[in-house]
Amino acid sequence: MITVRTVADIRAAVWKARHDGASIGLVPTMGAFHDGHLSLMRRAREQCDRVVVSLFVNPAQFNDQSDLARYPRDERRDAALAAGAEVDFLFAPPVEQVYPRGFATTVSIAGVTESMEGAHRGRGHFDGVATVVAKLFNIVSPDVAYFGQKDAQQVAVIRQLVRDLDMPVRIEACPTVREPDGLAMSSRNVLLSGPERERATGLHRALAAARESVAAGERDATAVRAAAIAALPSGGIDPEYFELVSADTLVPVRHIDGEVLALVAARVGATRLIDNDTIRTP
Ligand code: AMP
Repeated sequence: MITVRTVADIRAAVWKARHDGASIGLVPTMGAFHDGHLSLMRRAREQCDRVVVSLFVNPAQFNDQSDLARYPRDERRDAALAAGAEVDFLFAPPVEQVYPRGFATTVSIAGVTESMEGAHRGRGHFDGVATVVAKLFNIVSPDVAYFGQKDAQQVAVIRQLVRDLDMPVRIEACPTVREPDGLAMSSRNVLLSGPERERATGLHRALAAARESVAAGERDATAVRAAAIAALPSGGIDPEYFELVSADTLVPVRHIDGEVLALVAARVGATRLIDNDTIRTP
């Protein structure tokens, strides 16, 4: 695996691969790799001739500077894990490569960005995500880009970006990888203390309660939501939202029929966690 620091160098490497007839897969990440990231890399490895993993903690998508400062970073460990997953190129640029002096463009998407993560983290969050992903697509020009369903709203935002700007890339969403007790893997999990780690399973339990409520015959979204919130631990976890939305449009549903997406965000101590699950009526 080759670690690449500059836009010019990754472009040159990808150009050569393309010239050789190779297909290119891109896995955009912010590092601190866990099995969720590795599952995306493995999927890319199965499907593409060359795999590029980008590792860039994107300051533009952090609304909270203390969250950015606390974000776990360990490039040496990440490089070893990516090499183990047979990644070809780790593109790990410094901030000045991505946002050079004079940088002045923002990609801003309406609609799907406005609720949930967009409402709670602020407009700038998805502007930052869309801008950096548009840049990565232009820099790497992948055939396929791999994202985790763990960030379901992000997947919807990226699909909208690609559709609206006619970007020639296929977006593949990969299933959420979980710890044995159900907690969705996240780079932020290492920030949890022992008792917080215990309480963090509440997000997954709330989603399970929603699914059970629907399985038991409940179809009213308000009642399903109430059952989910009741399953959260009563202290030390601060829910920001629990939404039941159409899986396609992310518009809230009032009645559960067919397939809906349940999404939850909560603060556990100082750490903000998100999770989601698809619920289908029988
Ligand atoms: P991040 O480094 O947190 O920006 O995540 C990079 C990519 O990995 C994103 O597409 C995430 O959705 C995905 N990802 C993060 N956690 C998981 C997980 N537990 N399972 C599957 N994919 C994940």
